[in-house]
Amino acid sequence: MKQFSELGLAEPILRAVSGEGYTNPTPIQAEVIPALLGGQDLIGIAQTGTGKTAAYVLPLLNTILADKRRAAPKSCKALILVPTRELAKQVSDSIRTYGRNMRASLAVVVGGVKPSPQVRALAQGVDIVIATPGRLEDHLRNGAVKLDRTQIAVLDEADQMLDLGFIPAIRRILGAIPATRQTVLLSATMPKQIRALAKDFLNAPAEIAVTPASKPIELIDQSVRFVNAGAKRDMLVSVLSDASVERAIVFTRTKHGADKVCRHLEKAGLGSAALHGNKSQGQRERALKEFRNGKVKVLVATDIAARGIDIDGISHVVNFELPNVPESYVHRIGRTARAGASGVAIAFCDSSERKLLRDIERLTGQKLAVVGDEPAQLEGAEHDAGAQRAAQNRNRGRNGNRNNRNGKRGSGHGQQRSTQASDGAPRGPGGAKPKGRWKRNKRFNDRGRAAAAV
Ligand code: AMP
Repeated sequence: MKQFSELGLAEPILRAVSGEGYTNPTPIQAEVIPALLGGQDLIGIAQTGTGKTAAYVLPLLNTILADKRRAAPKSCKALILVPTRELAKQVSDSIRTYGRNMRASLAVVVGGVKPSPQVRALAQGVDIVIATPGRLEDHLRNGAVKLDRTQIAVLDEADQMLDLGFIPAIRRILGAIPATRQTVLLSATMPKQIRALAKDFLNAPAEIAVTPASKPIELIDQSVRFVNAGAKRDMLVSVLSDASVERAIVFTRTKHGADKVCRHLEKAGLGSAALHGNKSQGQRERALKEFRNGKVKVLVATDIAARGIDIDGISHVVNFELPNVPESYVHRIGRTARAGASGVAIAFCDSSERKLLRDIERLTGQKLAVVGDEPAQLEGAEHDAGAQRAAQNRNRGRNGNRNNRNGKRGSGHGQQRSTQASDGAPRGPGGAKPKGRWKRNKRFNDRGRAAAAV
């Protein structure tokens, strides 16, 4: 096994790494660090949890250390683009940790907070800018920063940036950086749009892949519980009340759903916090802080928290609702079993989610172990309930839902169908296109259209 000292990193960086207690580089670090120190462009296919942040941050710091010149005003030597504010904060924390024995200046440029302190930080020039694309583009337009002297560009979690609709912005941003730059692209998966981005903006990149996203980490004990939609919340309380649950993330499909589940848990006496794209930056930071320091043991989140968030000691991940995109399942459950620990991932699956479950099992190549009732048993109960309700509706002289009446679809347990359409745009309960208010909010949303869904 390789040692950090063999990779060609400078002494102050090696000292910081050993101060963190790392003895050996992770597989991605062992391959990526020498390639980046050699000046190559690079595509890294890796999920969070593999040590990918240090894999690009350590060589980047090495370059900054070797370059004695000060950054020019309003410029940066290295730019790291990330999809979310949380990941920006996490990356900046890593840079501070690994760069603590050297002088590297950095600025975090994200939406949801006042731009003026960022403008001031950028004015004198910094070594490293960590940015979400929307806010960076604002600063570029206003002339608060320019990228004509940037030598290194990193795109972290590129596929999540694609999901959030950032690719056009990224293309514009990369287009503003001199072509002589070194470009690093990290992504958990390689959809064709990311391939195209790499082809257009990377120069003969080395390609390094570790643990593809379709293979959930083996240390995770995965299972599924078939449950009627209306019974999910009570089942959640019972799952989370188990003494083995130290710290849990519960994933919902919608922001509204996250708030509802959070309220239900609070009522049941389980301290929880909600994290999603409708929360202000302050609320999001508070929720993460309370979860990190153990003040609340449950975080209820949309997929915004499925990537990048590195919190140790998450013993359980509950998929309260299955994600529309099977890859998201892999990202979600990857929040547990980090740093070699084991973890438990429990999926709740109601009758409307069977196809989503099949998609997940196809992607991962694994059948989830069933805990509790088999779907057939439940089906009977659902149909009975559906028939009963239809009879009640008929008695009341109302027009019941046809699907419920013939017992084919819909649990009839107050289940909310997804308010997100397949194109990622939020829809009203009846599937109607969003009207004025959402459109207006969109303007203030750093992540644009798709962010409304998370
Ligand atoms: P990342 O994939 O960048 O989110 O990193 C996942 C976790 O692994 C972080 O908590 C890092 O502190 C930790 N880590 C990174 N590199 C190493 C290493 N070489 N040895 C042990 N832990 C590491």
